[in-house]
Amino acid sequence: MSILHTLQRKLQQDNIDLCFVQNPSTIGYLTGFHSEPHERLMLLVMRMDSNPLLILPALDYEKALAQVKGIELVSYLDSQSPWETLAHTLSHYQSKSIRCSIEKDYVTMTTLERLQHALPFVSFSHNVSTLIQNMRLIKTPHEIELMLGAGKTADLAIKFAAQALDINRNESDILAHIEYQLKKHHVPKMSFDTMVLSQANAANPHGEPGNTPIQFNEFVLVDLGTLYQGYASDMTRTLFFGDTLSKEQEKLYNIVLEAHHAARDAVKIGMTAGELDQIARDIISQYGYGDYFTHRLGHGIGQSVHEFPSIASGNDFILQENMCFSIEPGIYLPNKIGIRIEDCFYVTPQGAKPFTHSPYSLNYRDYQ
Ligand code: MN
Ligand code: MN
Repeated sequence: MSILHTLQRKLQQDNIDLCFVQNPSTIGYLTGFHSEPHERLMLLVMRMDSNPLLILPALDYEKALAQVKGIELVSYLDSQSPWETLAHTLSHYQSKSIRCSIEKDYVTMTTLERLQHALPFVSFSHNVSTLIQNMRLIKTPHEIELMLGAGKTADLAIKFAAQALDINRNESDILAHIEYQLKKHHVPKMSFDTMVLSQANAANPHGEPGNTPIQFNEFVLVDLGTLYQGYASDMTRTLFFGDTLSKEQEKLYNIVLEAHHAARDAVKIGMTAGELDQIARDIISQYGYGDYFTHRLGHGIGQSVHEFPSIASGNDFILQENMCFSIEPGIYLPNKIGIRIEDCFYVTPQGAKPFTHSPYSLNYRDYQ
């Protein structure tokens, strides 16, 4: 059963007549049609009594026609009002009282007012955001294939990062090299802004890459993700650029690595997200660095880099087969050093399977 059919069945169970989906990312998830309409309206209308219809700008019509099957397309010109197009297209519902589900997490007040004006006989009370969020939690085998594709290009990106390390370069130089090489290898898009943080900059988990030089015998934290057919990857390696580790560098790196591996090895269907977070946190705390692991262990991933579930302390959400999330423990000593090791995984009856396969070595040459 297609994702669209699954959603339609759930809406029918809730006695919904119509469902409007406007978030381009959700439309991509439901239909496979990925498009960014910017300020123009693109609206997927699911009808329980007939096939779905997609209202979209005329300039996207040909692209949609080639990509979308089983969905009626209605396009409008820039000189026409999309709201009038919508009102006209759905005018035959007028005699009934219609219950419509909308994405409450996405639709703005302005859009809602326009919808109410265009379709005064419709009540917009039901929230489809929650239904879709729950569906997106469990990936189909096809989605996992695509995420493995995104993982492959993230591994490639880490390789480019390791190749670029040089004392004559700064963080921005490394970042530019990674993304230039990716574009040359037909990976056009990152899933979020690439982070390359050297020395003490890495102590800020959300630091911004700048002109801090790369130094020998220092760590460089590289956190990046790519997009592959609408699906995201997200990984971090903290690369040691040098040949002589200090005792502290080696100790901190090995603690984070131990926490990462312990969490990965512990993943099991039926455990809670909070229990998983605790396994990594306990290890870091046992070494005395619990106060320096300042964020949750991980987050869900799919078409967006941050989805549900949240792998956070106290979250009693139960992990199920084919859920996808990151495991990314870290230690951040302010103004001194930051280490994080991150991979994303999917849950199987045999445990966690990774989307990325880069090494965990302290020798940067092993990544090249
Ligand atoms: Mn992450
Ligand atoms: Mn990341």
